[in-house]
Amino acid sequence: MEKIRVDEVSKIISDRIKNFDQQVELEETGTVLSVGDGIARIYGLDKVMAGELIEFKNGVRGVVLNLEEDNVGVAVLGAVSGIQEGETVKRTREINSVPVGPGLVGRVVDALGKPLDGQGPVQFEEMGVVEVKAPGIIARKSVHEPLQTGLKAIDAMVPIGRGQRELIIGDRQTGKTAVCVDTILNQKGKDVICVYVAIGQKASTVAQVVNRLKREGAMDYTIVVAASALDPAPMQFLAPYSGCRMAEYFRDKGKHVVIFYDDLSKQAAAYRELSLLLRRPPGREAYPGDVFYLHSRLLERACKLNDQLGAGSITAFPVIETQAGDISAYIPTNVISITDGQIFLEADLFHSGVRPAINAGLSVSRVGGSAQVPAMKSVAGSLRLDLAQYRELAAFAQFGSDLDATTQKTLARGARLTELLKQTQYAPMEVGVEVAVIYAGTQGFLDKYELKQLKAWETGFISHLRANHKGLIDKIENRAKLGEVEEELKAAINSYDKGYQAHG
Ligand code: ATP
Ligand code: MG
Repeated sequence: MEKIRVDEVSKIISDRIKNFDQQVELEETGTVLSVGDGIARIYGLDKVMAGELIEFKNGVRGVVLNLEEDNVGVAVLGAVSGIQEGETVKRTREINSVPVGPGLVGRVVDALGKPLDGQGPVQFEEMGVVEVKAPGIIARKSVHEPLQTGLKAIDAMVPIGRGQRELIIGDRQTGKTAVCVDTILNQKGKDVICVYVAIGQKASTVAQVVNRLKREGAMDYTIVVAASALDPAPMQFLAPYSGCRMAEYFRDKGKHVVIFYDDLSKQAAAYRELSLLLRRPPGREAYPGDVFYLHSRLLERACKLNDQLGAGSITAFPVIETQAGDISAYIPTNVISITDGQIFLEADLFHSGVRPAINAGLSVSRVGGSAQVPAMKSVAGSLRLDLAQYRELAAFAQFGSDLDATTQKTLARGARLTELLKQTQYAPMEVGVEVAVIYAGTQGFLDKYELKQLKAWETGFISHLRANHKGLIDKIENRAKLGEVEEELKAAINSYDKGYQAHG
């Protein structure tokens, strides 16, 4: 047996140690090959994982999106101006996380959870990993509690349940954001947390929304996550997931949350930009192949949890902007197929003064019906029917002049109901009030009035109800059947109507 020589052994050991260090260096740090447009390519970082955060010299972080043979593609979460080619970058071994907790309520933050409202640092309970898996089937329960938007047309015809995903879709400037804002205002006093994620909008538009929410006292229960049009694409891509993580914190505590993604078309565009810069192969409309997964993994996280898990819920309202009403384009069809229904806002209706501009024929809610309060379900049935008949007749009645009495009656009724479903912004209604107003319309109480009188009639009637029939409003909200409140409803309408006619 050969004798072991001490100096040889020590050399081997010291070599090993030296090389080990190098090995570690190679795995833990890299060099910036190129940087620009929110993307950095990095050489080295052999062991980095997809989705891991890396840190540049100036402290800006990036998230690893592409793992290639000799380099990695990184989306920079911040300004790229301070990053230089040739500088070293470090692995962090962390996955992208945002602050979560009650301290975020009332705040306006960016996609990383950093404050944008100048109200000092965000108080948070813990950091939450941004991209988490959605709860599975066993963890869920079917949707059964209503989520009232306070908008008559929606609560009646496209009812939403807590835990549902309902798409708001329409051309630009058709009142998409208005539906979101009114729904937030309507959650006041209902113990619901709202999260409004603004993606790719003008900063001034977001500021207007925030100001409105403040003015109406709605920021007390709302978190705003904003990645505006001027923010780098990675932030716009990330913001919805960050907002969702903040919502999940409350859902997992058994609370009810509503989240708005306004809008996901802009997120898809940001993701396309990132993907093209990362040289991923472009597919249909130049979107990368996994753009469906971009939205499905996000929306899947909205759900109603079962009782063992605390029965919390996240209701999601993704918003999609269409071009010239084309709901069959790539991104719209994707998101339609992921959601439980859509509210289709139509530019023609909007311009003809039907606001909210809901197209009743193309808007659906696939699960919310089981959550609707019974009285609303009853009145909404005849409303849908009357409106469908009206639409059918109105189309061909334009061509004929002498119409029989029944047709005229259907047309008159339909016109009144359409008028009645109009609603001004920032005036959400209790479901009891909605039921009463729709009931008055479908039961013909308003047939004797001119169309232009209806707005004033309604305004007065609502005040009358709120002042004299609080009990009735509450009963309807507490799931009384229509039969149980119908007499009271009729009496309320009649007593108001008499006074209204008397005073002209
Ligand atoms: P964008 O495509 O720019 O995001 P949008 O579809 O979100 O637009 P909004 O910004 O909500 O549309 O509304 C467009 C305009 O219409 C706003 O000036 C808003 O005040 C007005 N508007 C929306 N809803 C109503 C309504 N129910 N009654 C009266 N005006 C409304
Ligand atoms: Mg908008």
